[in-house]
Amino acid sequence: MMSPFEQSVDAWLSSMEVRLRGFVRGDLFLIAQTPDKEWWAQVIDDATVTAVLIKDLLAEAKLSVGGCLEASQGRSKRISVKGKQVYAYQLIYWAGNALIPSSEDVVRHKCHNRRCINPMHLTHGTQLDNVNDTRDR
Ligand SMILES: [Zn+2]
Repeated sequence: MMSPFEQSVDAWLSSMEVRLRGFVRGDLFLIAQTPDKEWWAQVIDDATVTAVLIKDLLAEAKLSVGGCLEASQGRSKRISVKGKQVYAYQLIYWAGNALIPSSEDVVRHKCHNRRCINPMHLTHGTQLDNVNDTRDR
């Protein structure tokens, strides 16, 4: 039996596969101002490999206070994907939601735990939002 928590992660993973397979390079992709957009698009296009990578990251993470899934003990976990180093939470948020970040976009942790990779705890905003988050804490 899966707990309600496991069910929520599992539901997100199932819908992730649909998002990855539905990804198309639309008008917004063409005008996006980010040097890494083609790399992100390739990661999303490689739906099967990326889905396995994200599932493994979530399966290996340790459940912590407040439903956080911590991917590491010290600093935020970094991984190498298609020749580029990214934070695990960046891969899970952008690729897992089939989104391409612009140069101002950052992934934000609603839980304020940067080790957390729980997709439900991640959202996005700008660098300024992150500065405000830190100040308000
Ligand atoms: Zn969290």
